[in-house]
Amino acid sequence: MKIALATKNAGKAAEIGRILEGSGVEIVSLKAFPGVELPPETGTTMMENALLKARHVFKSTGLPALADDSGLEVDFLGGAPGVYSARYSGEKATDEENWRKLLRELEGVPLEKRSARFRCAIALVGFDDEEHLFEGVFEGAIADAPRGANGFGYDPVFIPLGMDRTAAELAPEEKNRISHRARALEALKVFLSGRR
Ligand code: IMP
Repeated sequence: MKIALATKNAGKAAEIGRILEGSGVEIVSLKAFPGVELPPETGTTMMENALLKARHVFKSTGLPALADDSGLEVDFLGGAPGVYSARYSGEKATDEENWRKLLRELEGVPLEKRSARFRCAIALVGFDDEEHLFEGVFEGAIADAPRGANGFGYDPVFIPLGMDRTAAELAPEEKNRISHRARALEALKVFLSGRR
């Protein structure tokens, strides 16, 4: 079965396609539907944003649709930046501007109060008569200075729980085994294999 993925990013589609290999589905990116645009992410939670995108892509392509949305929640900041993670320091913010702002907000806050997690929500719409949601979390804490050159986004300042390295110091394969996205996709995979 073909499933449309709500992304224009061919790399992301290929990666998700690889993870779902053997689940009986073929992932098609929006590159195959040049007329289809993604809706603005106006939801207040990652689940809402994932649903918004999956519903829109299902409606516009006629194919069952899959969408993901992720972000970082910092407890000391009441769950911010959350759904605003990509634009924390402004609409066109770079990753570095975002994590620098985060370090400023947490200046002087001791490590035990710097707990945080990445969350990934995945929505599947149009597969059957129901809307399905899957979630993965990646627990950790915010470092007081950046370290490492791998990964993207807030990885240089995120220390996974039980580790002393930041996510940007992990090998990509290592991060991809334990990340929020990996966990959400694993839940989706279990669901799909139960439906074959
Ligand atoms: P998206 O919904 O996957 O596009 O992620 C939104 C934003 O959350 C990204 O722009 C990053 O700032 C942040 N983010 C999501 N996943 C990760 C991750 O694995 N590492 C670092 N930052 C992430």
